[in-house]
Amino acid sequence: MKKLSRKTFFKGLALGTVSLPFAIRSCGGQNHAQDSSANIITGKKYKWKMVTTWPPDFPALGEGCNLFAKWVNEMSGGRMEIQVFGGGELVPALEAFNTVRSGAAEIGHGAGYYWRGMLPAAQFFASIPFGMNAQQMNAWLLSGGGLELWQEIYGQFNLVPFPGGNTGVQMGGWFNREINSIEDFKGLKMRIPGVGSSVLKKAGGAPVLLAGGEIYTGLERGVIDATEWIGPYHDYKMGFHQIAKYYYTPGWHEAGTTLEFFINKEKYEELPKDLQAIVRSAALQVNHWMLSEFEAKNTIYLEKLIEEKVDIRKFPDEVLARLRELNEEAIQEEIAGDVLATRAYEAYDDFRKKAAEWSKLTEKVFYNSLQI
Ligand code: CA
Repeated sequence: MKKLSRKTFFKGLALGTVSLPFAIRSCGGQNHAQDSSANIITGKKYKWKMVTTWPPDFPALGEGCNLFAKWVNEMSGGRMEIQVFGGGELVPALEAFNTVRSGAAEIGHGAGYYWRGMLPAAQFFASIPFGMNAQQMNAWLLSGGGLELWQEIYGQFNLVPFPGGNTGVQMGGWFNREINSIEDFKGLKMRIPGVGSSVLKKAGGAPVLLAGGEIYTGLERGVIDATEWIGPYHDYKMGFHQIAKYYYTPGWHEAGTTLEFFINKEKYEELPKDLQAIVRSAALQVNHWMLSEFEAKNTIYLEKLIEEKVDIRKFPDEVLARLRELNEEAIQEEIAGDVLATRAYEAYDDFRKKAAEWSKLTEKVFYNSLQI
């Protein structure tokens, strides 16, 4: 862009003779503006179905999906309506990925590690043990090339993904047994999903697969000795503090899980440019809102847990160090022989290492200073 004086620039902007670079122009450039106005004139309406992996209106996660639908509707002036279905309402929760691929629903919301069995690469766009936190995930996805790789990989499955929230760092879980050494994991029956379950197995534990609704009674009746869930907000509502002795930190298996919107590729490309931009903006807004919601509510519910005198423990350093080693083995087994998973992991790990250097130098030192 030619260098203009400040006065000429703003005058030009008002007259439409000066265009803005990057984001503002790409959203409202001349071609797009013509496309959008044409669509407004035809008044074509789009009705989409969203399938999710959450119970209907589930705190933060399901609520984020409802907000997405509301914001898209508001921003599009009613040209786009999205009906949100909880897991099991239209299709079972874990069918969401294939339902959107096939076009039976236009959009879905979930977490990449749910598709680990059919697409191991997907979990690197959600969370892996000892992985990146929410801030680092957003940095990788939105500014570090992660989203482009994610879109390329999901593109092969006829999907367009967008980050759609983050849980923030989770807690290590509820235990009815003290964890003083790695030996204490021997024979431990724990509900823990994803690669974390492989790590537990390597430590001698027995991962147990339980749906959300079965965890409380499983823990109460001794079917399991421990469970992870999310953090104070959701854990308090599940009532785990009433039946478990210890609440352990940190959530080594989920340092900042990214949630995702995934859209059927043809359905996305069918949208006029302005509605595509609205969908992207609403997803980004949910991404931001959900992390804030988790962080804010976790502080409130942590206070409640403390008031109820919950015994909060930290995993010993040597236990965490051993779990990290076991995780390295588990990840290598996870990606072995899988081209897409290897590419996703390498990109993830490259960013993770650099981000770790930066946070060691800054945030870690800062947090330590609070304890002096
Ligand atoms: Ca969890």
